[in-house]
Amino acid sequence: MPQARKQFGQHWLRSEKALQKIVAAAGLVEGDRVLEIGPGRGALTRPLLEKAAAVVAVEIDRDLCKLLVEKLGKIDHFLLLQGDVLSLDLEAALAAFPDFQQPNKVVANIPYNITGPILEKLLGAIATPNPHPFDVIVLLLQKEVALRLCARPGSRNYGALSVRVQYLAECEWICDVTAKAFQPPPKVDSAVVRLRPRQFHLPVTNVRKLETLVKLGFATKRKMLRNNLMSVVERDRLNQLLEQLEINSQARAEDLSVENWVALSNQLAEEVKD
Ligand code: SAH
Repeated sequence: MPQARKQFGQHWLRSEKALQKIVAAAGLVEGDRVLEIGPGRGALTRPLLEKAAAVVAVEIDRDLCKLLVEKLGKIDHFLLLQGDVLSLDLEAALAAFPDFQQPNKVVANIPYNITGPILEKLLGAIATPNPHPFDVIVLLLQKEVALRLCARPGSRNYGALSVRVQYLAECEWICDVTAKAFQPPPKVDSAVVRLRPRQFHLPVTNVRKLETLVKLGFATKRKMLRNNLMSVVERDRLNQLLEQLEINSQARAEDLSVENWVALSNQLAEEVKD
């Protein structure tokens, strides 16, 4: 049996309960095509194959790919791609496999060291949302990141990452998963989240300006917005805008919803220096 490799973030999920919750969260129905990132030894792949019309799995580790081919290679509705998911051109890779094209759901226990890039690969960025959004993305990830993805305005974990991801997707907490649920156990606790990518986005006049504002706004979290944004907008002007948006003039970055950030940046589009 291959040893778990640290550089690939390998931790095998062995809790039957956690596996069931992940699969249930995907709400698989007839015809669903699933993309799985990092199938590992197939713990999640098997239950997915029971429910989905097709499963495409992308695994970077050659030895694991050999093992998966031995275990699951005979199953018609399973397709394994060997390689790095981050450099994968999925559409091109699936061109020759009509039954696996355009997977509509993603279900994965991802390698934690590349969580940010995976989120961007699946969702796109504010400037460039994925033009073919998935219906649902269920991910098992580091709890601390999960808390930030699901944080509501005004709460401690709400930060720049929450705004960026919530602009692109609705984020829902599914459940906690303790380190003991894995072999070997990771150093951190984990959680399952469900993302529903938005089909429509609030129009942003100038994306770079929105990003600048969010970055500066959250730079010193406990400071009031008007102090953090002092370098880019005059105090009186900011007060005026906050009032228009019905936001308290003493608000902090964490008090603003995604809609508030977009509205503020659109109003300031002409005024903020890049
Ligand atoms: N789904 C399995 C394994 C999760 S561990 C389980 O739940 O038990 C994360 C998996 O992602 C490992 O199999 C690892 O080899 C794979 N992986 C790591 N980096 C990857 C990358 N860039 N592209 C594709 N797979 C990757």
